[in-house]
Amino acid sequence: MTKITYMENINTVCEHCGTPIKHSYVITNNDTHFRVGTTCFKKYSNLSKASVAWLEKKFQDIKQMQDKKSMLEIALTSEDEEEMLEVMKINKIHWMFNYDDVVSATKGWIETYELRIDSVQNEIDGKTVKTNIIVK
Ligand SMILES: [Zn+2]
Repeated sequence: MTKITYMENINTVCEHCGTPIKHSYVITNNDTHFRVGTTCFKKYSNLSKASVAWLEKKFQDIKQMQDKKSMLEIALTSEDEEEMLEVMKINKIHWMFNYDDVVSATKGWIETYELRIDSVQNEIDGKTVKTNIIVK
Protein backbone atom coordinates (compact mmCIF):
# COMPACT_ATOMS: atom_id res chain seq x y z
CA MET A 1 0.00 0.00 0.00
CA THR A 2 1.47 3.31 -1.10
CA LYS A 3 0.68 6.77 0.16
CA ILE A 4 2.22 9.96 -1.15
CA THR A 5 2.21 13.38 0.47
CA TYR A 6 3.77 16.67 -0.52
CA MET A 7 5.85 18.77 1.89
CA GLU A 8 6.74 22.34 1.12
CA ASN A 9 9.45 24.62 2.50
CA ILE A 10 11.10 22.06 4.70
CA ASN A 11 14.85 21.99 4.30
CA THR A 12 15.89 18.41 3.84
CA VAL A 13 17.83 16.11 1.54
CA CYS A 14 16.60 14.06 -1.40
CA GLU A 15 17.06 10.41 -0.49
CA HIS A 16 17.48 9.55 -4.16
CA CYS A 17 20.36 11.88 -5.12
CA GLY A 18 21.48 13.48 -1.85
CA THR A 19 20.80 17.06 -3.02
CA PRO A 20 19.52 19.53 -0.42
CA ILE A 21 15.86 20.29 -1.21
CA LYS A 22 13.01 22.47 0.05
CA HIS A 23 10.00 20.75 -1.48
CA SER A 24 9.61 17.02 -1.41
CA TYR A 25 7.31 14.10 -1.84
CA VAL A 26 7.17 11.55 0.92
CA ILE A 27 6.35 8.11 -0.41
CA THR A 28 5.16 5.64 2.17
CA ASN A 29 5.20 1.99 1.16
CA ASN A 30 3.71 0.09 4.08
CA ASP A 31 6.03 1.16 6.92
CA THR A 32 8.91 2.62 4.95
CA HIS A 33 9.14 6.31 4.12
CA PHE A 34 11.15 7.68 1.24
CA ARG A 35 11.65 11.42 0.79
CA VAL A 36 12.42 12.58 -2.71
CA GLY A 37 12.79 15.96 -4.42
CA THR A 38 10.21 17.03 -6.99
CA THR A 39 12.77 16.84 -9.84
CA CYS A 40 13.90 13.31 -9.01
CA PHE A 41 10.28 12.27 -8.54
CA LYS A 42 9.44 13.53 -12.02
CA LYS A 43 12.49 11.94 -13.63
CA TYR A 44 12.86 8.63 -11.83
CA SER A 45 9.51 7.47 -10.49
CA ASN A 46 7.80 4.50 -12.10
CA LEU A 47 4.66 6.59 -12.75
CA SER A 48 3.56 7.76 -16.17
CA LYS A 49 3.98 11.43 -17.11
CA ALA A 50 0.20 11.83 -16.96
CA SER A 51 0.07 10.41 -13.42
CA VAL A 52 2.88 12.69 -12.25
CA ALA A 53 1.10 15.69 -13.79
CA TRP A 54 -2.16 14.66 -12.13
CA LEU A 55 -0.44 14.37 -8.74
CA GLU A 56 1.27 17.75 -9.18
CA LYS A 57 -2.07 19.39 -9.96
CA LYS A 58 -3.75 17.79 -6.94
CA PHE A 59 -0.93 18.79 -4.56
CA GLN A 60 -1.04 22.30 -5.98
CA ASP A 61 -4.77 22.42 -5.19
CA ILE A 62 -3.99 21.28 -1.64
CA LYS A 63 -1.29 23.92 -1.28
CA GLN A 64 -3.60 26.73 -2.41
CA MET A 65 -6.22 25.63 0.10
CA GLN A 66 -3.61 25.34 2.86
CA ASP A 67 -2.43 28.89 2.09
CA LYS A 68 -5.96 30.29 2.29
CA LYS A 69 -6.60 28.31 5.46
CA SER A 70 -3.48 29.65 7.18
CA MET A 71 -4.35 33.22 6.16
CA LEU A 72 -7.71 32.77 7.86
CA GLU A 73 -6.12 31.17 10.92
CA ILE A 74 -3.70 34.08 11.30
CA ALA A 75 -6.51 36.61 10.91
CA LEU A 76 -8.65 34.74 13.43
CA THR A 77 -5.82 34.53 15.97
CA SER A 78 -5.06 38.22 15.61
CA GLU A 79 -8.78 39.01 16.17
CA ASP A 80 -8.32 41.56 13.43
CA GLU A 81 -11.73 42.02 11.82
CA GLU A 82 -10.32 44.00 8.89
CA GLU A 83 -7.87 41.24 8.17
CA MET A 84 -10.58 38.57 8.32
CA LEU A 85 -12.78 40.60 5.97
CA GLU A 86 -9.85 41.07 3.65
CA VAL A 87 -9.39 37.32 3.40
CA MET A 88 -13.14 36.86 2.93
CA LYS A 89 -12.98 39.29 0.04
CA ILE A 90 -10.35 37.13 -1.62
CA ASN A 91 -12.85 34.32 -1.28
CA LYS A 92 -15.64 36.56 -2.60
CA ILE A 93 -17.72 36.60 0.54
CA HIS A 94 -19.22 40.01 1.25
CA TRP A 95 -22.29 39.37 3.33
CA MET A 96 -21.02 39.83 6.90
CA PHE A 97 -22.77 42.44 9.08
CA ASN A 98 -20.97 42.27 12.39
CA TYR A 99 -17.84 40.98 14.09
CA ASP A 100 -19.45 37.75 15.32
CA ASP A 101 -20.58 36.91 11.78
CA VAL A 102 -17.06 37.53 10.51
CA VAL A 103 -15.53 35.31 13.21
CA SER A 104 -18.01 32.52 12.66
CA ALA A 105 -17.62 32.70 8.87
CA THR A 106 -13.83 32.60 9.29
CA LYS A 107 -14.09 29.49 11.47
CA GLY A 108 -16.49 27.96 8.97
CA TRP A 109 -14.10 28.49 6.09
CA ILE A 110 -11.15 27.08 8.04
CA GLU A 111 -13.23 23.92 8.57
CA THR A 112 -14.31 23.89 4.94
CA TYR A 113 -10.72 24.07 3.75
CA GLU A 114 -9.74 21.26 6.13
CA LEU A 115 -12.49 19.06 4.68
CA ARG A 116 -11.54 19.94 1.11
CA ILE A 117 -7.85 19.25 1.75
CA ASP A 118 -8.75 15.86 3.29
CA SER A 119 -10.97 15.08 0.36
CA VAL A 120 -8.25 15.81 -2.23
CA GLN A 121 -5.69 13.79 -0.21
CA ASN A 122 -8.24 10.93 -0.06
CA GLU A 123 -8.66 11.16 -3.82
CA ILE A 124 -4.87 10.89 -4.18
CA ASP A 125 -4.73 7.97 -1.72
CA GLY A 126 -7.50 6.24 -3.69
CA LYS A 127 -5.35 6.33 -6.82
CA THR A 128 -2.06 5.37 -5.18
CA VAL A 129 -3.29 2.70 -2.75
CA LYS A 130 -2.81 -0.11 -5.27
CA THR A 131 0.22 1.44 -6.96
CA ASN A 132 3.68 0.61 -5.80
CA ILE A 133 5.42 3.95 -6.34
CA ILE A 134 9.15 3.50 -6.72
CA VAL A 135 11.85 6.07 -7.45
CA LYS A 136 14.93 4.44 -8.98
ZN1 LIG B 1 17.00 14.01 -5.90
